Amino acid sequence: MNKINFKPILALATAIIISSCGGAKTSNTETAQVEKTAIQVYAFNVGDILVKDISLFNPGVDVGQSMQFSNTAYLIRHPKGDLIWDTGLPDGLNQMADGSDSESFLMKMPVTLASQLEAIGVAPSEVEFLAVSHLHGDHIGNVNMFTNATVILQKEEYDALFNGETPVAEVADLKSNPSVQLAGDHDVFGDGSVVIKRAPGHTPGHQVLFLDLVETGPVVLSGDLYHFAKNREFRGVPAFNTSKEASLASMDSIEAFIKEKNATLWIQHDFKQQETIPHAPEVIK
Ligand SMILES: [Zn+2]
Repeated sequence: MNKINFKPILALATAIIISSCGGAKTSNTETAQVEKTAIQVYAFNVGDILVKDISLFNPGVDVGQSMQFSNTAYLIRHPKGDLIWDTGLPDGLNQMADGSDSESFLMKMPVTLASQLEAIGVAPSEVEFLAVSHLHGDHIGNVNMFTNATVILQKEEYDALFNGETPVAEVADLKSNPSVQLAGDHDVFGDGSVVIKRAPGHTPGHQVLFLDLVETGPVVLSGDLYHFAKNREFRGVPAFNTSKEASLASMDSIEAFIKEKNATLWIQHDFKQQETIPHAPEVIK
């Protein structure tokens, strides 16, 4: 199989598309009466990643120490449609018992995403929306499964798919999918329950996902804004991020948003935290 790597895509000249839609204003009284939309979320384990030197992510901290990463994808089921958020390492890696070994990572795929979706009765071809936090190989391994999904990406990230600058070949088939290209935040279903937040820096068009869950409460899915709790604590910027300045600015803006919403940050690669979050077939509400 193709070599999987974390090599950042190159920074691109940015043509900003301003997409704004004027939402109807409601008074505070009206807002208070609106009930939250009941969405359901499934978390999938889509890879085990052993990082051989964790200081790759937190420069100068714990040099030479290894750390086990989780790798997580989520299916969000909204009354208006399904959204898949990240798609993990490629299912094909499941055939390699010893995984994919490189200088920095040992990556394995113990259970395929396809089988996990099948277990909850979801056909990938029927998923309406596909958004990934960014285009690194551990997040886009199975995008081609979602043949009919509208792809939602920041414009810089979308452009990287098709200009030959992405090192990842698996994404080529997305060319025929419809797309929404963003230059900012995006309320996916228009009711505030599922909102993509622009957070560039790790890659030029990196984004995170806000979910307003009825029982669990507000949650932000991190993408790779941080990779583990200590990474958040130290505000560590991996040396391979496309922009340190943009990474730190995104940490500031997303932390302010988390505070404003009183949200919990779910760090997708944080093995310890992910162990505390129910995974499919269990449903998160
Ligand atoms: Zn990642």
